[in-house]
Amino acid sequence: MKAPPLPAHWCFDAAEVGEPTWATSSKPVAPGRVADEFTASGGHLESAEFQELRVGSDVVTVDTSAGPLSAKLVIGADGAKSAVRQSVGLTADIADFNETAIVATVATERPHEKTAWQRFMRTGTLAFLPLADGTSSIVWSADNALATGLIAMPAAQFEAELNRASDHARGTNTTRQ
Ligand SMILES: Cc1cc2nc3c(=O)[nH]c(=O)nc-3n(C[C@H](O)[C@H](O)[C@H](O)COP(=O)(O)OP(=O)(O)OC[C@H]3O[C@@H](n4cnc5c(N)ncnc54)[C@H](O)[C@@H]3O)c2cc1C
Repeated sequence: MKAPPLPAHWCFDAAEVGEPTWATSSKPVAPGRVADEFTASGGHLESAEFQELRVGSDVVTVDTSAGPLSAKLVIGADGAKSAVRQSVGLTADIADFNETAIVATVATERPHEKTAWQRFMRTGTLAFLPLADGTSSIVWSADNALATGLIAMPAAQFEAELNRASDHARGTNTTRQ
């Protein structure tokens, strides 16, 4: 049996599952604030570059730019190219999507109403994520060739392309940074 055609638009409303919001997006939190909350709850913060990890019989030693640290448990939360992961010989399946993500803050003509908007195109995905100050953070993941052209454009031309790609869903957009 032939599957029915997919709708062109999906709308997800947190209220339908009794939740106040799906998620919160924000500009990067100042590292100082995170550090303050961590130390206030009893944590000790050592700001240093990870170098190597040595696993002993009952302790793990982490060599850092500030000297060695010992622990019973080490959590490697150092991102996609984790040096901690490499240090213990763990492998990862890595695929190149041949896409580049362009990130910018834009002022939209129409208010975002605390709603994220995303469009999936053959050439990539364009997302508008609402920010508390009324602006939106865009993430435009585009084929490398398209992204290279977009990045090289003067601001006015980029905005015209952004308006076209978003089909003016939020009106006319103005890039802030
Ligand atoms: C443009 C963009 C948009 C995204 N949008 C979304 C989204 O809408 N929703 C979503 O769920 N995800 C999104 N993601 C993905 C999300 O940001 C990542 O999945 C997430 O940040 C991964 O968190 P992490 O803690 O594993 O790594 P990271 O956030 O990369 O943190 C790793 C930390 O380790 C530190 N570090 C690395 N190496 C060392 C070293 N040798 N020594 C000391 N410190 C080190 C780094 O400085 C960094 O602070 C987006 C990513 C990008 C780039």
